[in-house]
Amino acid sequence: MRGRNLRGELDAFLAGSEQELIDFRRDLHMHPELAFAEYRTTQRIADRLIAAGLVPAVLPRGTGVICEVGSGDGPTVGLRADIDALPVPDEKDVPYSSTVPGVCHACGHDVHTTVLLGTSLFLAQQAEAGLLPGRVRLIFQPAEELPGGALEVMASGGISGVDRIFGLHCDPRLDVGRVGLKSGPITSACDRVSIRVSGPGGHTARPHLTADLVFALAKILTELPAALSRRVDPRSSLSLVWGRVEAGSVANAIPDDGVAEGTVRCLDEDAWHAAPDLIKGLLDSVAGAYGVEAHMDYIRGVPPVVNDPVSVQMLTEAAQGVLGDGAPAPTQQSLGGEDFGWYLESIPGAYARLGTRTPGSPHLADIHQGTFDVDESCIGAGVRFLAATALTALWEGQRPSSGEPLVSLNADN
Ligand SMILES: [Zn+2]
Ligand SMILES: [Zn+2]
Repeated sequence: MRGRNLRGELDAFLAGSEQELIDFRRDLHMHPELAFAEYRTTQRIADRLIAAGLVPAVLPRGTGVICEVGSGDGPTVGLRADIDALPVPDEKDVPYSSTVPGVCHACGHDVHTTVLLGTSLFLAQQAEAGLLPGRVRLIFQPAEELPGGALEVMASGGISGVDRIFGLHCDPRLDVGRVGLKSGPITSACDRVSIRVSGPGGHTARPHLTADLVFALAKILTELPAALSRRVDPRSSLSLVWGRVEAGSVANAIPDDGVAEGTVRCLDEDAWHAAPDLIKGLLDSVAGAYGVEAHMDYIRGVPPVVNDPVSVQMLTEAAQGVLGDGAPAPTQQSLGGEDFGWYLESIPGAYARLGTRTPGSPHLADIHQGTFDVDESCIGAGVRFLAATALTALWEGQRPSSGEPLVSLNADN
């Protein structure tokens, strides 16, 4: 394998395919589809993969595509793109604006889909030339925004047999040609908690003869976040913040029920798993002290995405090899959620940020805004990066125990 010129091979591939990929992205952008309704998108992906000689399978619910490229006994590397759009109106004035009222690709999933498609076409060529030392599982996942699409992929066996998985996401704060990398947690968990307290109710003149429900609810509101901060490792940044509270209707009557709702955000996986039981235990003890009944509904969101350091090293080598030594940029953990975290609970892998900003551009529309758009040269950069990542992971998966690299990604080797 030594002596291969991956940069040159990617240059040649993109010289013939980059315009087609940009057109593909614009077509998806004009026809965005919400979570679990990505039928047209699914068809477009499957048709293009079939035209490249691949054999895609549509997920049982009818949206999302899984396809494998390569064969043999080598490792299997998973590459995942999300394909759904958001219920956000398109506010851009461009020829490829959304044609669907109230829906647009405001999170850049059209770009992720196109980057994975381009990577698929390149890897299919590699496999045909006998240059793929293993298998690559291509996962076009539906419904990231719901969330739930990752669980659908997993329930369909989408990651069984996959040794390592990678994904990327547009980052409008990062220049095109650069990639944001971080070991450990890179996104956060976000759950919802809803608490209902009840008691007999009564006159405010005689709180000792009933359960003083508003007082008890106020104690729950202040004691739960305070006690949590002393019961979990502060590095997990587990936080319970209330967004809604309601009880009572008049000044001189103790009500018989009340409600509090909030979010639980967390940067750490273990703390996230422990959170519901911990909060329930604290709730029961505070409610019990004031003689009220408390019921908790805990609605799970997504786990944090926790990047595996070995996989991040592969992303780093890939980015340096095909985008340049200066391409990797340190990035921060965001408090946003991303359902890629579900995969990383089962297998190692990493999630990277793909720069989409035109260098020097003052325009900085964030994701989830109707004005969000990308510098489309990020598609070519994304294909280079993701293809090199898959090959690096396959090569390293086969690396002999001496640890000697089998191949260099640099053009001059
Ligand atoms: Zn999003
Ligand atoms: Zn997204």
